[in-house]
Amino acid sequence: MRIGVLAIQGDFAEHIAMLERLGAETTEVRLPRHLDGLDGLIIPGGESTTIGKLAVDFGLLDPLREFGKTHAIWGTCAGAIFLSKDARRSQPLIGIMDITVERNAFGRQVDSFEADLEIAALNPATQPSAPYHAIFIRAPIIESVFGAASVLSTLPDGRIVAAQQGKLLATSFHPELTQDTRFHQYFLSLAR
Ligand code: GLN
Repeated sequence: MRIGVLAIQGDFAEHIAMLERLGAETTEVRLPRHLDGLDGLIIPGGESTTIGKLAVDFGLLDPLREFGKTHAIWGTCAGAIFLSKDARRSQPLIGIMDITVERNAFGRQVDSFEADLEIAALNPATQPSAPYHAIFIRAPIIESVFGAASVLSTLPDGRIVAAQQGKLLATSFHPELTQDTRFHQYFLSLAR
């Protein structure tokens, strides 16, 4: 299994470390040809406007849209914004996931927080459910899911923080900054 991590801005190194811990081969993706032969792609957290502008400069937007038609892609935080069809302002988006997002929905950097989430998809039916400790850093909220997307997890107040559409995943939070490998394992199961 070979998983690419978009490596033009943001915390791609942490995703690569997590994937290698799980035994996946990894590729840093900076150009369209780096997508060749990959089973899936992760788009890291960072700054979605910067990732978008650089993706345009490197000719990546259309190749990423094509890749997502047949392959697994997971966007964390800025990556989730980049996957969305609508971020309610004008910035380059891949725009392949049926979600609308609100950027910086919790406020500024100092308003970053952690929370325990219930994520049924991560818990095998045979085991008691264990909460997922999620880290939110100037995070977006997934305002709505429509079309083919569905909700994977919400905060206790009902706001959506993870969504799935077939092999596409979007999370407001950062599993790559924890020691819990379950979300990366879940993504590998989608890419397989
Ligand atoms: N606030 C950033 C954005 O809007 C996302 C932050 C993050 O990826 N941790 O792109």
